[in-house]
Amino acid sequence: MKPWIEAIHAYVPGKSAGADGKPLIKLSANENPLGTSEAALAARAKAPAGYPDPDSKALRAAVGEVHGLDPARIVCGTGSDEILHIAAQAYAGPGDEIIHVRYGFAVYDIATRRCGASVVVAPDRDYGTDVDALLALVTEKTRVVFLANPNNPTGRWIDADEVARLHAGLPSDVLLVVDQAYGEYLLDGQDDGGIALATDHGNVLVTRTFSKIYGLAGERIGWGYGAPAIIDALNRIRGPFNVSNTGQAMALAAVADRDFVRRARDHNAAERARFVECIESLGNHGLRAVESHANFVLVLFQGALKAETAMAAIADAGYAVRHLPGQGLPDALRITIGTAEQMDAITHALREAAKAAS
Ligand code: PMP
Repeated sequence: MKPWIEAIHAYVPGKSAGADGKPLIKLSANENPLGTSEAALAARAKAPAGYPDPDSKALRAAVGEVHGLDPARIVCGTGSDEILHIAAQAYAGPGDEIIHVRYGFAVYDIATRRCGASVVVAPDRDYGTDVDALLALVTEKTRVVFLANPNNPTGRWIDADEVARLHAGLPSDVLLVVDQAYGEYLLDGQDDGGIALATDHGNVLVTRTFSKIYGLAGERIGWGYGAPAIIDALNRIRGPFNVSNTGQAMALAAVADRDFVRRARDHNAAERARFVECIESLGNHGLRAVESHANFVLVLFQGALKAETAMAAIADAGYAVRHLPGQGLPDALRITIGTAEQMDAITHALREAAKAAS
């Protein structure tokens, strides 16, 4: 095994069973509690069984139409994970550096090490991106910067001015990857400008996924948007038939169902606000909600109630949430926004656990 591969800690998915092996309802993987579009489910049955279109042509056209983008500047991937991996591989190698912000998405670390490059972790500012601190770490070895916006697992977001400032501070041969896996959860009028930057500049790649708001995580579909030279590089090394027939068919139907997307976004905004209010009402017990622009909330436990105890209480109530001690967050839980009933059950469990601990 190559030494840089040996240094990788394999991605550890969230648990979906309790201590007794009982299956739990997953509020641990940032999936859509409303499921997926009916149109996508109907499309699944009609998908052919032979090799899929290697270029995901119809899907790229549909994504381009919905977002007002040139399909020739889009590449589809086996989840946006594939796009992140091949972006690192196309632009960095041994001796190079890739920067991401502390408390960043776990795949950035793996993608960086996998291509033999070195991981550079920028300090956060209150769990979010600190543009100046990140830019201070750029050296002549920097090849790629990964920015999750909104960020997973913290939910924080930086606006278009900040993203533009980050881009302006980078040398033009450094690739800025603006990972918008949770971009659809931003409210009206919120736009981080990543797409416009990728349209105007040769060193910006935006990534999106069908796993979150579209509810198609099981199909493994994501896409990237950038300058023709970036898309050409990614097309050279992606899997040749990287999006399945069912994936292409379901995503095609899902992206056209704007009603479903709107409903999911509105549901998330309302339930997230209600959940944050509940956490704030437990502030006297040391609970704090990190401001979130995504479909989950990072809850900090700074009082008598510890994150692990809270997680056990939530599991007793029948739910799995995410504890991320390996990512430097031993005193926090990331809780996906579920249905109103699910969020009531979670807040009830947290309230009782907080009372019991004090
Ligand atoms: N980026 C971020 C920030 C994520 O949280 C995720 C999913 N956890 C992904 C990318 C990858 O999602 P997928 O491969 O399912 O598209």
